Amino acid sequence: MVEQKKTAAGLFGWLAGRSERSQEEVILVLLCLVSIASVLPFGLFRLWQQHWVSAAVDLALVMAFAVVIVHVLRTGRHRVAGIFVALFYTGGMLATVYLGGVALVYWVYPTAIAAYFILQPRTALAINSAALLGLVAILSVQLATLNLFTILMTAALVNLFAYIFAYRTGIQTRALHTQAERDFLTGVLNRRALDRKLGDYADERRPHLASCLLLLDLDHFKSINDVYGHAAGDAVLVRLCQVLRQHTRASDRIFRYGGEEFAVIASGAEPEAAGRLAENLRAAVASAALLEQRPVTVSIGVALMDKSSSPAEWLAQADKMLYLAKQEGRNTVRVAQHGEPV
Ligand code: GH3
Ligand code: MG
Ligand code: MG
Repeated sequence: MVEQKKTAAGLFGWLAGRSERSQEEVILVLLCLVSIASVLPFGLFRLWQQHWVSAAVDLALVMAFAVVIVHVLRTGRHRVAGIFVALFYTGGMLATVYLGGVALVYWVYPTAIAAYFILQPRTALAINSAALLGLVAILSVQLATLNLFTILMTAALVNLFAYIFAYRTGIQTRALHTQAERDFLTGVLNRRALDRKLGDYADERRPHLASCLLLLDLDHFKSINDVYGHAAGDAVLVRLCQVLRQHTRASDRIFRYGGEEFAVIASGAEPEAAGRLAENLRAAVASAALLEQRPVTVSIGVALMDKSSSPAEWLAQADKMLYLAKQEGRNTVRVAQHGEPV
């Protein structure tokens, strides 16, 4: 048992570890592997019994699962593949009951639950409801009403419980995700979220939209801490983020990159527009009186996030501009010119 657990965890780790596969991809591939392992023996057995149609259904399912595994591992796309897999399950279950009779109706339960593992709860519920209608059509001629009703009620209850469980898990996962990607002090997104977002922008499969990365660093922040205390420094960070939120568009994203450094992704902004945004932010911070006793300013470096470079290069470019802005006396914006080397 322990050995089995280890093997499953190892396989999961192997699949998840390679090129950072999403959890959905890994679950879909594992489910297809398990499905092949469960359906193939039935297919071979029916072949041996010369039940050609049943064998053809089972082997076609095995082929379909194999195709999905190859597709998902190659492309990383799992959404549509997940719908197909749920339809294979449903179709396979209905064909099995149609060919084998009511004795095989137990397949309705695992196939119903499997759909909730790979689809949004609502989509799974819709497909399973259609499957139950199909089941009624097949079994109504073979079964007494009470027996049919019992099968339907138990299948409906399994769906209801699986739906509630999947729905609740979805809410918890989203809440965890939000917590994992938020900065505790300021409420803006954190470094982990920035890395993920930059990865999204670098993804070749996403449509290209000229966007810029702004790196902001508070000027002489250490002396604010030294003179007014760490708590006053914290309050400045919180107010700074309020100012940034007020002066950015809803489509822009704000991140805490490190201690008193922040990043803004200006989505759909060419360097010229991003430079204007940075200048607005700089001026807004300078006039916002983040600290009563003395003015607080930021320096900002701006880089274009073009697809010929990597996220690390965008960060390095913006950091270089930030360094120049500091050298030019702080409370300044510097925008990387097109083609400027990192
Ligand atoms: P420069 O203008 O060159 O950026 O000078 P600086 O003093 O802002 O830069 P430096 O990197 O030397 O100092 C950053 C300071 O930010 C040091 C650290 O104590 C402070 N800091 C980092 N994180 C936090 C935080 O969460 N709260 C507070 N209050 N201070 C922080
Ligand atoms: Mg700094
Ligand atoms: Mg600083």
